[in-house]
Amino acid sequence: MSRTIFDKSSPGRVGFRLRDSEVDISKHIPQKHLREKTPSLPEVTENGVVRHYIDISTKNHHIDKGLYPLGSCTMKYNPKLNDKMATLPGFANLHPLQPESSIQGALALLYHLGELLKEISGMDDVTLQPAAGAHGEFTALIMIRAYHTKNGNPRQTVVFPDSAHGTNPASVTMAGYKPVQIPSSDEGLVDVDALRDVMDDNVAAFMLTNPNTLGLFEKNIVEIAEIVHSVGAQFYMDGANLNAILGRVKPAEMGFDIVHFNLHKTFSTPHGGGGPGAGALGFRSQLSPFMPKPVICKDGDRYYFDWDRLDSIGRVHSFYGNFANLVRGYTYIRQLGLDGLKAVSENAVINANYIRERLKEHFEFPHNSVCMHEFVLSGDRQKKLGVRTLDMAKRLMDFGFHPPTVYFPLIVSEAMMIEPTETESKNELDRFVSAMAQIAAEAESDPDKIKTAPHNTPVNRVDEGKAARELVVRWQPE
Ligand SMILES: *Cc1c(COP(=O)(O)O)cnc(C)c1O
Repeated sequence: MSRTIFDKSSPGRVGFRLRDSEVDISKHIPQKHLREKTPSLPEVTENGVVRHYIDISTKNHHIDKGLYPLGSCTMKYNPKLNDKMATLPGFANLHPLQPESSIQGALALLYHLGELLKEISGMDDVTLQPAAGAHGEFTALIMIRAYHTKNGNPRQTVVFPDSAHGTNPASVTMAGYKPVQIPSSDEGLVDVDALRDVMDDNVAAFMLTNPNTLGLFEKNIVEIAEIVHSVGAQFYMDGANLNAILGRVKPAEMGFDIVHFNLHKTFSTPHGGGGPGAGALGFRSQLSPFMPKPVICKDGDRYYFDWDRLDSIGRVHSFYGNFANLVRGYTYIRQLGLDGLKAVSENAVINANYIRERLKEHFEFPHNSVCMHEFVLSGDRQKKLGVRTLDMAKRLMDFGFHPPTVYFPLIVSEAMMIEPTETESKNELDRFVSAMAQIAAEAESDPDKIKTAPHNTPVNRVDEGKAARELVVRWQPE
């Protein structure tokens, strides 16, 4: 185990020296507020500190270290230009309570980010307040509730397919609706007849991820939209990940009324312990009156907060969302331009299909058709040899890869969901394919090697249940 910085402390060692104070503090601070004992802080040299943190930063896997094919999570490389822009002093030193007239640049950036997301999604309006995908879903459902309530009846249920991300039913429940799940067809798509059966005027919305979590494009999307709208329900797109459709098709054109975008997936802002997210929301004009306030508006050259929104659901975030993350997303979009975004989706889809084709001989593919930005394979063949998908995911760490998403979506047994993203080169994809092929071969020749993996990481198998339930993230001095 790595030692903590406290273990590396040695009395009297210093990395930084403060000048003696010229002020007699005891004259200005009441005695009861003065420390009696020096605090127990680590005493280390400057290079001791730097080396300690560099050392622990390489023990974990992160996107700056290698491929991170975590399906549905879109762990693409985060361009450093984004950080450079977000830390410009004019942005980084803003105070959220500054008067509007002194934050015109920041408001302009937010306004134009909203315009870009409108262009990308085809929607009429955008809010940037939600801090995550799930928060965007919740905000959307509260807006949908307000919309139906205004029309006389909030309705009672929200429908989604069994391939939906777990946040969908959770958001539905939190918004006070009853979740209704429908099965997928054998092809892995929405079962249109099952959808028709559950749709009536009690349904507030149908939530769909497209491409869905199997990485398949819902080809009946137009018919599905018609069924949803025929009972007056709203059509929700879980657009956490737009990597497959950027610059190709707009959610509004597929018939969706509202969509959330994860800037921390599609638009390259950090996530997965890397920082707070941004789950912006785009919607058609019938939902606009209910959007969170304040709304950033433009009048001539002036940008301002519009609070005068009687039907608004109110704020869903302090101030205006995770601003630094919004700067990063804006930088990414502006740097690529709308044509560049089209290249993103092209490469994301090619990369996923390249890996899928090359893995075909080694693994089972229950939905074996051309995929979009990600695909799901099944470890059923290896399970018969006594090796589970979880074991293979652990073994991948020995090759320097982050494990893919496993056991999701729930409708594929021994699922492994792989999303390479567009930011990986062919060399890196080939390296990944070789590792997977070697693991498939080991399942036959040396299954124990996989079952006891990982072997090359700082810690081996951890008790994941205990890690999740008894979270100890703070070191305590003795
Ligand atoms: C990631 C994801 C979400 C949730 O986003 P968070 O930012 O983690 O809350 C919802 N739906 C899908 C399909 C996702 O991939």
